[in-house]
Amino acid sequence: MHNKTIAELTTGLNAGDFSSVELTQHYIDRINSLDKQLNSFITLTPDLALQQARYADEQRAAGNASLLNGIPLAQKDIFCTKDVKTSCGSKMLDPFISPYNATTIEKFNQSGAVMLGKTNMDEFAMGSSNETSWYGPVKNPWSLDSVPGGSSGGSAAVVAAQFAAAATGTDTGGSIRQPASFCGITGLKPTYGRVSRYGMIAFASSLDQAGPMTRTAEDAAIMLNVMAGFDPRDSTSVDEAVPDYTSDLNNSMEGLKIGLPKEYFAEGLDDSVAKIIEAAVKEYEKMGAVVKEISLPNSKLSVPTYYIIAPSECSSNLSRMDGVRFGHRCKDPKDLNDLYIRSRGEGFGPEVKRRILIGTYALSEGFYDAYYVKAQKTRRLISDDFNQAFQDVDVIMGPAAPSTAFNLGEFSDDPITMYLSDIYTIAVNLAGLPGMSIPAGFVNNMPVGLQLIGKHFSEAKLLNVAHQFQQQTDWHKKVPELFV
Ligand code: GLN
Repeated sequence: MHNKTIAELTTGLNAGDFSSVELTQHYIDRINSLDKQLNSFITLTPDLALQQARYADEQRAAGNASLLNGIPLAQKDIFCTKDVKTSCGSKMLDPFISPYNATTIEKFNQSGAVMLGKTNMDEFAMGSSNETSWYGPVKNPWSLDSVPGGSSGGSAAVVAAQFAAAATGTDTGGSIRQPASFCGITGLKPTYGRVSRYGMIAFASSLDQAGPMTRTAEDAAIMLNVMAGFDPRDSTSVDEAVPDYTSDLNNSMEGLKIGLPKEYFAEGLDDSVAKIIEAAVKEYEKMGAVVKEISLPNSKLSVPTYYIIAPSECSSNLSRMDGVRFGHRCKDPKDLNDLYIRSRGEGFGPEVKRRILIGTYALSEGFYDAYYVKAQKTRRLISDDFNQAFQDVDVIMGPAAPSTAFNLGEFSDDPITMYLSDIYTIAVNLAGLPGMSIPAGFVNNMPVGLQLIGKHFSEAKLLNVAHQFQQQTDWHKKVPELFV
């Protein structure tokens, strides 16, 4: 059962081949016997899952099955889940039991989905390797010595190892696409504002966006049908109609205009990864697409711009973790200052502290104009590059990451090199655009992701383009040997 997509599982449930309770129990058993190797979950919720599965089976029997009825999913531990620990990968929130559900979780509940548990992640979603999690690193199902990518590394590993039918991720600078690339799965970061951020613990509010992590583009479309939509509780969510994301999947690629940014194929990109991306683009040409070289001249500004904006926003967002309202509190504080200093000192890990320090510095009087305001200006330049490029092309393609998954520990002492692993994904967040990573091949048995970037609110188009590739290739069907 675990090797089926959401679409196939729904067919099986409808035909009565298995019940949601049987399916859910199967995944629980699989996780219990295999996840020791990966550490992909922070919290398992088997009792809740079986209760939801029983309810889903009843609803189906009564003819009330909604879109994800009875489908077992894993949720990134950044989403608030009522009465279930919501840690965000941090010691700071280890004791935090959320009193309410994030909108995304609410929507999955309404659609009849089952929650198997909460997935491991980099602390407060800061990282590219899942090594900053307080709960220990996640291993890559394709090679236990390698990282799964970050920050949604737990979710990517869960999907690749077939511990759930699909998972959620969040992407502030690449955290859906880069782990999707490293683990050989399909990941979609929607347009900023497409999916509600209500109840999603904030890292950098102007960049954060939740999206699906799945085996196929078709499944991503099904998931997005549930996740997308206006939410009055999120002032940045956009009041724009939600199409049926599955309806354009079979559109032809004839005449599709693909742009290849020359900056994405320059120094820094692994040769073997470049070859795979070129071969994938050829596949589109065979389907009738036309390819054109384009330029995104300000690409080199994206990493430095991001590393001012994201830390600035995080230093402000994380000030609410003060030991008073929720989360970790130090023992026997002497006075209020001692309470703040020790609670935060003990609760946050080194990467989070580094970001808070950078952000507080960049926002402080005297430096604000030189750093933060400047970064907002370069952000606009980066965004304008894309607007310009989309005058001529329908979709931009390139690598999702410069290499395949690196080894655990390889860059833990070298934050700058680690930050550069998001070089092809970050600009998309700065511009608020939708982006995907889909499996496109392997180098030494490690997966490589092809990145697709579209215009604002063009998710249906991206899913169509991804789906057509998956009709021609079977990279997305490959499964790691240890987790067949
Ligand atoms: N790796 C990037 C960072 O550490 C992006 C993280 C993310 O998208 N959440 O900030």
